[in-house]
Amino acid sequence: MRPAVRPAMDYDPQNIFAKILRGELPCHKIYEDDRAFAFLDIMPRAPGHALVLPKAPARNLLDISPDDLAHVMKVAQKIAIAAKSVFAADGITLQQFSEAAGGQIVFHLHVHVIPRHDNVALKPPASFKEDPAVLSEQALKLAAALR
Ligand code: AMP
Repeated sequence: MRPAVRPAMDYDPQNIFAKILRGELPCHKIYEDDRAFAFLDIMPRAPGHALVLPKAPARNLLDISPDDLAHVMKVAQKIAIAAKSVFAADGITLQQFSEAAGGQIVFHLHVHVIPRHDNVALKPPASFKEDPAVLSEQALKLAAALR
């Protein structure tokens, strides 16, 4: 039997990603469909670091519907394949943090898709703010590869 998914009673509609999804805050968008949305992380741990979100409110892995989770992972795979080519990456790291103890800072579920190069370590989380002009150019390239 599948374990019960916790209802999204703890979802805060004022979280920063909810505001991005509503268009109240800007982002460097790379992909959108009816159920998912993706943009670049403004503090990338490697060039091309992207975030994939469900459009439906979900705090994290513990309350997202299995169908929305499956869709987010499909989109993460699409983005991984495009990013590998656009950034000439040797590999991809996926990350998803749930609750503060799990490392989560923003409480709308997101999957990190991070292009990796051989022998290049990830920057520490939130250690470097990328130039918005660089993010714009990278987002255009990724969005074009995802079309
Ligand atoms: P976490 O909840 O631990 O997965 O971390 C949240 C991630 O969101 C971090 O990698 C931040 O750099 C990133 N982040 C925070 N604010 C923004 C924003 N306005 N646009 C894009 N990425 C963001």
